[in-house]
Amino acid sequence: MTPDNFPADAQVLCELGQLFGERGWCRATSGNFSVRIDDNHCLITQSGREKSRLIPDDLMICDFRGQAIDKQQRPSAETPVHTCLYKLDAGIGAVLHTHSVTATVLSRAIGAEFDLTGFEMQKALRGTSSHEAVLTMRNFDNDQDMVALAARIGKAWIDGLLNVPGFMIKGHGLYAWGKDAAEARRHVEGFEFLFECLWQELLAGHP
Ligand SMILES: [Zn+2]
Repeated sequence: MTPDNFPADAQVLCELGQLFGERGWCRATSGNFSVRIDDNHCLITQSGREKSRLIPDDLMICDFRGQAIDKQQRPSAETPVHTCLYKLDAGIGAVLHTHSVTATVLSRAIGAEFDLTGFEMQKALRGTSSHEAVLTMRNFDNDQDMVALAARIGKAWIDGLLNVPGFMIKGHGLYAWGKDAAEARRHVEGFEFLFECLWQELLAGHP
């Protein structure tokens, strides 16, 4: 089993890299993307690859323990967060992680959780049909131990604290997921839009 067996999924991830790269959301090799390919494996970006110029050779397959199928390849350092999410919910088909400037500065300015409400763009998120919904977003402390970070995320999930298809990591960025890559992309775009709105409001002195 190699990435060559999944050309359509590889193509989608490469196109996402270009799109997010153009928007400045994955600079300096930051960010990582994955799609589920079966009950125990995902196609994921290799460590240190430039996302805006992603090609299929930059992708690899690992299992949900984070082990590479091809031992010559090294998955993204943040693979434990991706595999944690796939293990928590069999309905998750893709996980996308970005490092936008806005998400980074916003996450440093706010607490461990914050509410999104009053924005039409909330409807970009699955299951949200009104701007009046109050969506609580988690903002985890960063950690260089990705296994420990994944464990905290898993606990929050089990405790019912992750009610939107994404979360932030302080001073770091956004994780978002969806049933497939298209939905995960829509969630990233929706969240990034909402973060920009919140940051602009903070700068303007609005509550
Ligand atoms: Zn990251």
